[in-house]
Order: sequence, then C-alpha cells, then structure tokens
Amino acid sequence: MFKNARIKLTLWYLLILGIISASFSFVIYRSLTLEIDRFAKIQKDRLERRFQDRVIIGEKLPPPLIYIDPDLIADTKGRIKLILIGINGGILMITGTLSYILSGKTLKPIKQMMEEQNRFVSDASHELRTPLTALKTSIEVGLRDKKLDLNGAKKILKENLVDVNHLSKLSLSLLELSRLDNQTIVKKFEPLKLKNLLNKSISTIQPFSEEKNISLVCKSIFGTVLGDEDKLIELFTIILDNAIKYSPNDKKVIVYTKKSQKYIRVHIVDEGCGIEKNNLEKIFDRFYRADKARTTQGFGLGLSIAKRIIDYHNGHIEVRSQIGNGSDFIISLPRK
Ligand code: ADP
Repeated sequence: MFKNARIKLTLWYLLILGIISASFSFVIYRSLTLEIDRFAKIQKDRLERRFQDRVIIGEKLPPPLIYIDPDLIADTKGRIKLILIGINGGILMITGTLSYILSGKTLKPIKQMMEEQNRFVSDASHELRTPLTALKTSIEVGLRDKKLDLNGAKKILKENLVDVNHLSKLSLSLLELSRLDNQTIVKKFEPLKLKNLLNKSISTIQPFSEEKNISLVCKSIFGTVLGDEDKLIELFTIILDNAIKYSPNDKKVIVYTKKSQKYIRVHIVDEGCGIEKNNLEKIFDRFYRADKARTTQGFGLGLSIAKRIIDYHNGHIEVRSQIGNGSDFIISLPRK
C-alpha cells in the first residue's frame, strides 16, 4: 500500500516539476529563437542599407550576397531545442530520484502513525475481548443452569460486576489517552502548590497502601508549578499507584521534591520489584506490561497517560531502577 502511495506521490512530484521545467524551457526557447530571428533581420537590413548607400554614390556593385544562412539559423534553433530537451531529461532524472526519496520521507511519519494506530486497535480489542469473553461465558453458563437459585445468580452477577468495572476502567483510560492525544485542546494552567497536589493524590491512593501495609512517607515537598490541577493529580496518582502495586507488603514509598534552575523534580521512590534496564524505555508505550503473564490488574496504559500529561506540561520523566531494589520515578515540571 505504501509502495503504491510512494510511487504515486513521486509521479505527482515529477509531473509538477516536469510542467515547471517544460514551461521554463519553452519560454527560454521562444526568447532565444526570437532573439536569433531579430539578430538575422537586423544584420540583413544593415547589409542591404549599406549596399543601397553605395549604389546611390554610384559605385558599381554585384548584387548583395546572402550573408545570413537560413539553414544555419534553423540548425542553431534545432541545437537549442536539443540542448533544452537534454537539460529537461537530466532534470527529470535527478528530480525523479530526489522525489522518490522525498516521498519516502514524507510518507514515513504517516506510515508510522498508521502502524501505531493499527497496533493500538489490535491491543485495545485484545484487552476488551478477555473480560467480554468472561462475561459472555458466565452469563451463558448461568442461563443454562436449571438449578440456579437466587444466591447462585447473585454470585454470577458479582463476578460480572468485576468484569464490567474492568471494562469501564479500560474505556476511561482509552478515552483519557485520546483526549490527551488531541493537540487542539486549550491549556488552562494555573499556579499550583505541589504539596496540595501530592496530598490529594496520596489520599486517593491511601486505602491501597493501607491494604498492603505500605507507608507513604512525604519528605520536604515544596514548590509551585503552572498546570492543570486534575491532570497533575492524575499523574501523581498513577505513579504512586504503581509504586504500591509493584511493591511487596510492608515496604515504604518516599515522596520528595528537589529544585533545579528551570524545573521542580518530584521523586517517587519505592522499594518494589524494580524494572529491567531494557524495559525502561518501553514502559511508557501503550499497553506495555513488563509482566508478560499479565497477573497484575493493569492494562499497561497508566504510564503512557502519565507521559502524555507530563508532555502536556512541557516536563519530562526519568526512571532509575534496579531489579529487586525498587524504582525512582523523577518527574520534572517547569517552575512557575
Ligand atoms: P500497568 O497498568 O500495567 O501498571 P503502566 O503503564 O502503569 O501499566 O506500567 C507499565 C509497566 O511498567 C507495568 O506493567 C510494570 O511492569 C512497570 N512498572 C511501572 N511502574 C513500576 C514500578 N514502580 N515498579 C516496577 N515496575 C513498574
């Protein structure tokens, strides 16, 4: 598909360049031939005038010779035509090659975008299929069960609710991703104290940390950033949620901030399982999960949402991690 598009685009480039080059050549040819004709006419007039002047004086002269050879003029015009055709051929050959390279470069980002889009659709369908299949199977089994009583039906409904919640979480994440991908949204930034933002995220996450007996320790947290409050709270909640999710029970998650000239860095440090070095780049990809067995509840969308929120605020994220020793997620946001 892309090869065809590339060839078509090359032909379009060639057609445009060909028309421009041919038009210029035509103008050059016309100007040169007109100039040659004008030159020949002037020369002829001058010779005739000189001859007539000398006849008036009384000199006996032979009739004037034809000094301008019409064959020579036709030949010169033919040579100009040939030279211009040669130049045009050369231009078309060079621009053809360049057009092919250029069209490849033009189509490359579109190709990458389409490939990513296709991967996204297939990953999203895969994520949707699992809970949908579970739902379908449990409903069918329940309907076929003639001995199903009220308690049994309630149990099935409870299981279904888990899958429905899972689906609803997935659709919310997908919606959030597409909203963040929309470049046209108008940014409404306001000065926000990091302490308040982190406190709000921590209070959302607290029940999960208590469940695993993980203590959330806030060390010196200071600084003000310009940003969107809801999005920043969501960002910190995602990173804190992961810190708890990927830590064994009874561990610690430490949060602190540091200032640099341009940025305020928020460190979220856990003592969890850590991330392999070659996975560090991939964890921000959509649907990427280091745990291939997919035993955890996530969809692999959290960090890609987090990354987009950071980009939205013109910040950046860095991860330092050691397998078995934990991770340090460093979020840098521009200082107010
Ligand atoms: P998920 O929903 O699976 O948590 P994320 O996008 O939030 O998706 O994270 C992607 C992957 O990065 C996770 O599956 C996990 O393997 C890894 N990861 C993220 N945060 C941590 C962390 N604090 N410690 C260890 N691994 C992490």
